[in-house]
Amino acid sequence: MPNSDISISIPPKLVAELRAAQHVAVLTGAGISAESGVPTFREAQTGLWAKYDPEELATPYAFQRNPRLVWEWYDWRRELVAQANPNPGHLALAELEQRMPKFTLITQNVDGLHQRAGSRNVIELHGNINRTKCFDQGGIIDFWPPTTELPPRCPRCGGLLRPDVVWFGESLPQKALHTAFTAAEQCDLFLSIGTSSVVQPAASLPLVALEQGITTVEINPNPTPLSARVTYMLPGPSGQILPVLLETLNQP
Ligand SMILES: [Zn+2]
Repeated sequence: MPNSDISISIPPKLVAELRAAQHVAVLTGAGISAESGVPTFREAQTGLWAKYDPEELATPYAFQRNPRLVWEWYDWRRELVAQANPNPGHLALAELEQRMPKFTLITQNVDGLHQRAGSRNVIELHGNINRTKCFDQGGIIDFWPPTTELPPRCPRCGGLLRPDVVWFGESLPQKALHTAFTAAEQCDLFLSIGTSSVVQPAASLPLVALEQGITTVEINPNPTPLSARVTYMLPGPSGQILPVLLETLNQP
């Protein structure tokens, strides 16, 4: 295999801007997880799960109707996530955070791979599959008594426990959204990585940055609706581009 990194060159002006940046904001999407082998919702629907519509597995109504089925679906996906590891793209972002005065990492992914790579300031727009909350009261629940009952029950109120992810038909967490849009407005460099740039409201974040005249970079193997508008488009997987970007940044 030839070294595919050879063809990647980072524009010198972008390197200079990154070096001078005080606040970098980053949006990541499914692409960076796919590079770690995390299957998408649809891809995870193999075997006995293939026969269900997403509406039967990931809505509040589905949970009320068949909480055990929904809990087991998320157990299965937690298992798939546990088998995956952060890739060089995740690791490069964690390292980039270390060298920036301020760094806001906004993700549409629920797998927690950024945190496992060492990222600290992670804004999760769609929640985290490894976190559990009370269906009735919404509070995050870290521990519950061992039980054979599925889903387990909330130790505070006895309600059913559910994954802390945003289901179809649910609104995104307000605080995370607010932090994300504020970062897009106030950063001095915005990176959009591995996202199709079609799912709202996340797709608006790079547009907000562009409207402010902020340098915006897209890293994606394939062109998206955003590609023609960004300041720099770096075509390729994040696991190849980001380490080269970091390396270039570290050169004297
Ligand atoms: Zn509760």
